[in-house]
Amino acid sequence: MLESRSNSRPAPLTPGGLKSHLPYLFGSRVLIVAAHPDDEVLGCGGTIRLLIEEGVEVLVLYLSDGVTSRGSHGEKLERQDIESRLSDAKLALRELGVQNFKALGLKDNQLDSYPILDIAKLIESVVGDFKPTFVITHSLSDLNVDHRVANQGVLTACRPQPSSQVRGIASFEVLSSTGWQFDSKNQFAPNLFVDISESLESKISALGFFKNEIREFPHPRSLAALESLAKSRGAQLGVPAAEGRSRVKSSRSAEAEISRSRLALLPVPGEEFQ
Ligand SMILES: [Zn+2]
Repeated sequence: MLESRSNSRPAPLTPGGLKSHLPYLFGSRVLIVAAHPDDEVLGCGGTIRLLIEEGVEVLVLYLSDGVTSRGSHGEKLERQDIESRLSDAKLALRELGVQNFKALGLKDNQLDSYPILDIAKLIESVVGDFKPTFVITHSLSDLNVDHRVANQGVLTACRPQPSSQVRGIASFEVLSSTGWQFDSKNQFAPNLFVDISESLESKISALGFFKNEIREFPHPRSLAALESLAKSRGAQLGVPAAEGRSRVKSSRSAEAEISRSRLALLPVPGEEFQ
């Protein structure tokens, strides 16, 4: 397991820095579980930057190296590709202000080859050490098998237990995987939105560090498509840019906190958080 700590911290987004609303929902410690390095930026990079700005501690956990399924020619080249992806991730996290990440280095696009209990135990170990108040991960609607395993692993690792401090779990959408789901009963349907108008630029900059993953528009994994999705989610709610979340689970106390934070987290019309 790789671990990293750096001393980077972005400049405040607004004079005076802290805004108080996001911690009401997310609490003081947020764990992001990403199947591959770059998913955290695609899915919730704007939110991460805002959380950091508000003094929330964020840990990003990468399950897979994101590279090994691509058939690099030889072990040495594969190792170089893995190191290159991680070094891109470090730059992206620094852009977002994240100081902590862990990389489990499991095989890319083969997470379903591990027993789900093993994946859950690995996540559970991180949850036990970090003690997150909120966990954000992939949607079960995704086409990518690693994304679905991440979702199942998180739900298993964060199952209700008396000692658990996790008061909420939400899933995010990842361009090119979440959108490629045509089963009408299994579509990603966001019911929580975070206004990322102030951090969209940082999110786009962070994704730009993954130079081997970015393609030209109209590829879904392009900077223009990322910006377009953020603006589209924002327009759903009348703000310049937003990220959508599907609320997987939240405790009653988190529900109460959500209702106190309407300014930042706008419910889908018709859904009330009471
Ligand atoms: Zn991914």
